[in-house]
Amino acid sequence: MFDRLHPDVLDKILLSMPDFQTLSAALRTSRTHFYSVFQAHPKSIVLSIAYNVVGPALPQAVRVVCQADPNLCDEDAILADHALDRDACEDLQLNAATVQRLEHLFSLRHKDRSSATSRLTPDESFRFRRAVYRLWLYCERVRADSEENPSAYTHLLDSWPAHELLEMDRVAVFLKDVASWSFVSGTEWPERWDRIPPNTHFMRGPAAVLRDWEDAVSPDDQLEFNPGVSVNLDEQLHEIRQKRNLKSGDSYTADRAKAIVDAAIGAEDRCHRCHTPKGLDLWGRPKWHILRGFLSVPCMINLLEGKLPRNDHEISPLADYIHARDDDDDRLTFDWTNFIEELCEMDVDAEGPWDTNQWYCFDCLLALVRLRLREWWIATKVKEGMPINENCWYGYNCRTQVHRPAHRSKLNHLCTPTRGDPA
Ligand SMILES: [Zn+2]
Ligand SMILES: [Zn+2]
Repeated sequence: MFDRLHPDVLDKILLSMPDFQTLSAALRTSRTHFYSVFQAHPKSIVLSIAYNVVGPALPQAVRVVCQADPNLCDEDAILADHALDRDACEDLQLNAATVQRLEHLFSLRHKDRSSATSRLTPDESFRFRRAVYRLWLYCERVRADSEENPSAYTHLLDSWPAHELLEMDRVAVFLKDVASWSFVSGTEWPERWDRIPPNTHFMRGPAAVLRDWEDAVSPDDQLEFNPGVSVNLDEQLHEIRQKRNLKSGDSYTADRAKAIVDAAIGAEDRCHRCHTPKGLDLWGRPKWHILRGFLSVPCMINLLEGKLPRNDHEISPLADYIHARDDDDDRLTFDWTNFIEELCEMDVDAEGPWDTNQWYCFDCLLALVRLRLREWWIATKVKEGMPINENCWYGYNCRTQVHRPAHRSKLNHLCTPTRGDPA
């Protein structure tokens, strides 16, 4: 069919291809036609497809994948000087997919909590992506150079205008958040406190931070590969602001919070249950899958009634159930969305079922877990065919379950007390 098309038309088709796989497929299927058109000006076709893949942050994206002279700071000149080879194209596409997924998360958290895909406007999206790629470059430079020359990184940062540094710092704060989510998600019982990543942990870079979160890499495994960098982005940005006579402190923090998003959707919304205005911090079905980054297993277990949090015979299987992984792909098997939906739908107390289409504040969500986790776990044990012993009279209030291992392994303590004043 292609032999009837004019080369200009073939050229337009190539220029508008959405990604590099489509280009390879086209070149393979039509050697005579597409290939000769491609050979006439490969560089501009590759650049055009790279733009289709990455969008307007292409100069910043290319700088991450090409080994440009560290002293060159003009991003457009670097883009113009570099021919993109096959490896660079593959990296561009992989990185673009990472940035896209980070944008989805950022949008869910800071733009529109009702959508799992990004609702950033084109301007907001461009600011976000440009900032991610620049932060990515900065992190790579710091890691690659083993910090031999800290002033080189200040030089890099100093090549960008103040408002764009603010955007980059906003993205750094977001990456720190994502890094802390994966630590909360990986905090195992019986640790008492949620684990917190070291301050420079996010400087493993955007791809590593996102992978740790998506693959639920345990904090210990993450720390094993921590670059242990001592260059501190906050300090370097502070130095630059001082040099340029720019403000720091509270007003800087307030400006940074607004650096990417012009207007958030639902910022004034209230909790359906307690009516507190919580805006983007409200929780509903589109966000339940990220709750594992906010509510750790130890925190959940401590919400259980009576002395149950100190009964490892009852609690260990629950903690193991939430942290269980698939034998084949090592992914977490626990479905947080199902879990919260099931808690909402239980009709076991005065409040009755909660509307799963509504939005709740974090405190109300904690109240939901506190009210129903124990009964949910009994129902789940029955559903999964796990053994349940005979009930102890004193139920979850029983004190003996804390100090007598034989007692706690013999009787069930998930039940409500039928007698008071436990021994
Ligand atoms: Zn509430
Ligand atoms: Zn007992």
